[in-house]
Amino acid sequence: MLPVLFFLATFVVASQGSEIGLSHQIHLLRPQSGSKGERIPGVSCLSWRLAVETHNIIGWTTVPKECEGYVGHYMLGQQYREDSKVVANEAIAYAQSLNITGGGKDVWVFDVDETTLSNLPYYAEHGFGAEPYNSTLFNAWVLEGKAPALPETQRLYKELLSLGIKVVFLTGRPESQREVTETDLKHVGFHTWEKLILKASSYIGKTAVVYKSTERTKLEKSGYKIIGNIGDQWSDLLGNHPGNRTFKLPDPMYYIS
Ligand SMILES: [Mg+2]
Repeated sequence: MLPVLFFLATFVVASQGSEIGLSHQIHLLRPQSGSKGERIPGVSCLSWRLAVETHNIIGWTTVPKECEGYVGHYMLGQQYREDSKVVANEAIAYAQSLNITGGGKDVWVFDVDETTLSNLPYYAEHGFGAEPYNSTLFNAWVLEGKAPALPETQRLYKELLSLGIKVVFLTGRPESQREVTETDLKHVGFHTWEKLILKASSYIGKTAVVYKSTERTKLEKSGYKIIGNIGDQWSDLLGNHPGNRTFKLPDPMYYIS
């Protein structure tokens, strides 16, 4: 009886499909709206974001104007938080799987902007990356020292400390922003760290990959072991001594090489 029922069901579905001209489709496609986002020529904003996150699209300067609304909804809606949560969960599971004895030289490298501190309040006022980067306005925002913490990263930070893993902040922020960065970090709950490395003037004109690679190499040469590394940019995670494992947080708002 069952095979007959299956045949009948298949026949009914096939008949219905052919009536509306979809006999060659496996299933109905969703319309080009909703979670798929607005479209830019030839590519959906969701596909653009995926290509950015996977480092297939590189060297871009601004979010496509057509995707400003999409990126804004992504950043302010649940998806950004959900995606960040998965990254933190995986990082925590990895850290817990290690046999850390504590008191040693095991360190975890954290980027600062869009990793530890969030500049979302600024970007929400500036087109979510669709406006060209304005260093004067952005630095004025940084100097206010009001960047909130990224909650998921903070969860990872606390877990690492409880496991006896030391934290090193490695940021592209210039040395001149050390004081405001320290104050901001402490104010939002990042109270302790092994090192806070800011970009020295000798690195002006060098890429983030070169700067961060050089500083990570120095860390390892001085005896630290980078067991993990987390950042929102690929330039946080590429190059020399990236760490035993790297974790990429989402950031569809800007690209730093
Ligand atoms: Mg960053």
